Amino acid sequence: MATALEEAGVREWTPGLMEQVVERAADPGFRRWEEQVAHTNHCHHPIRLQGRIRHMDKATGDIRTVYSTINEPDQTLLVACGNRRASVCPSCSSTYKGDARHIALAGLLGGKGVPDTVRKHPRLFVTFTAPSFGAMHTSIAQGKNLQVCRKRRGTCPHGNPEGCFRLHRPNDPVVGEPICAECFDYESMIVWNALAPELWRRTIQDIRRGIARAVGMSEKACNRLAWLNYFKVAEYQVRGAIHFHAILRLDDGAGRYDPEAMLPPPEGFDMALLEAVVRSVVPAVRAPDPRGGRIGWGTELDVKRLTKSAGANELSEEVVAFYVAKYASKGSESLGAALDRRIRSTEGLMALQGLRPHIGSAVRIAWIMGGRPELAELGLRHWAHCLGFGGHFATKSRRYSTTFKVLRGVRKEHRRRQSFEDETPVDAWDRPEDDALVVVLAEWGFKGTGYRSTGDRILAMGAKARALEGREALREERARAMAIA
Ligand SMILES: [Zn+2]
Ligand SMILES: [Zn+2]
Ligand SMILES: [Zn+2]
Repeated sequence: MATALEEAGVREWTPGLMEQVVERAADPGFRRWEEQVAHTNHCHHPIRLQGRIRHMDKATGDIRTVYSTINEPDQTLLVACGNRRASVCPSCSSTYKGDARHIALAGLLGGKGVPDTVRKHPRLFVTFTAPSFGAMHTSIAQGKNLQVCRKRRGTCPHGNPEGCFRLHRPNDPVVGEPICAECFDYESMIVWNALAPELWRRTIQDIRRGIARAVGMSEKACNRLAWLNYFKVAEYQVRGAIHFHAILRLDDGAGRYDPEAMLPPPEGFDMALLEAVVRSVVPAVRAPDPRGGRIGWGTELDVKRLTKSAGANELSEEVVAFYVAKYASKGSESLGAALDRRIRSTEGLMALQGLRPHIGSAVRIAWIMGGRPELAELGLRHWAHCLGFGGHFATKSRRYSTTFKVLRGVRKEHRRRQSFEDETPVDAWDRPEDDALVVVLAEWGFKGTGYRSTGDRILAMGAKARALEGREALREERARAMAIA
């Protein structure tokens, strides 16, 4: 396990660091400071806020202060950074991963207010993939043996061989690079990534319409009986195209979401119907490409039925929950650590290091395309580090499962691109509770990010290590108690 020093990114103790640590530990507010750190779940770069929350009584108009940072250590409140990327904040990333897993699981197995009868609803696990943008070097395994990368004679217009007769191991650096970089259609891949959330929105809409058509009803009438809900995670393929893994679930059509009253759809709305509709509708979905023409999904559509214990062409609930948690906290940094944040300038673009040549090209091209007026709506400069994709990495339809009313007080991350109707970004779940009797007046000032000093950071990471050990000990104790019983 990493020591507190390593976790804090400090190589050795200096007298100055010692002084910082002692100063904090000797402060009368130290206990409260530790409490705050624990409350951020030992975030690596907490946001430092100053401000107060006041309540105004709706009936009398009286205002009273219910919280102020005036009495806090450094007159500051620490709030978790909420970054879901493990490379930026391991603590917040694991919180997010856990949240996403709970939400996905509640929609699969019930719990957290969702009745366990959801296990009887028709459910599919579907993987939606982008079309081809050019041939790639691939590691192809057949049993224990590797197969030839690409059997193809002849040369492309750029004078490069069209085939590759080598056997690539999965870790071969050439895997995921295009056979000919000039033939590879980078622009289309970037536009596709940028349009993937819109393509998704249309896909869900079309599946809902397809269900109505399949049962011979008007959409309106059908929606009152059955409604498609989903949970989806986005993931990058080696080639840099985004793809989606989604849990699709068919529920009753009750208008307002009430988790405790959720019912299975009426008879006839079964797994076979859902699967048939998905298979027939998805290949035909299109979204307009601002360069002209339209985009759609690739030919690889993987549809698996979700069951309690998996049979042929079926997946078990546990396997799916694992997938979802694994992908939910992966961002663009899975393509290279340098892509864990926005690129802000051409200098920043030039300074990117450690990327595979193919990914480096894609990022540069996305940045350049971002300067084209006809593509302005795609925000490609903003999302160049995500190869054009500006969507959330985990989203669900509003009625998929419970929303956590976790009161963390303040929005932790700047909203990513405005989410589409009926879609909730997983990282926007903690909004303050609405009290019917009072108006909440919150005033917050931003003081900075990260701990006030390196000494603070060392103390925080020390507390994190102790908390983890404590949890481990508790687990062992419980296991022992179970063994005795
Ligand atoms: Zn954090
Ligand atoms: Zn090859
Ligand atoms: Zn070529």
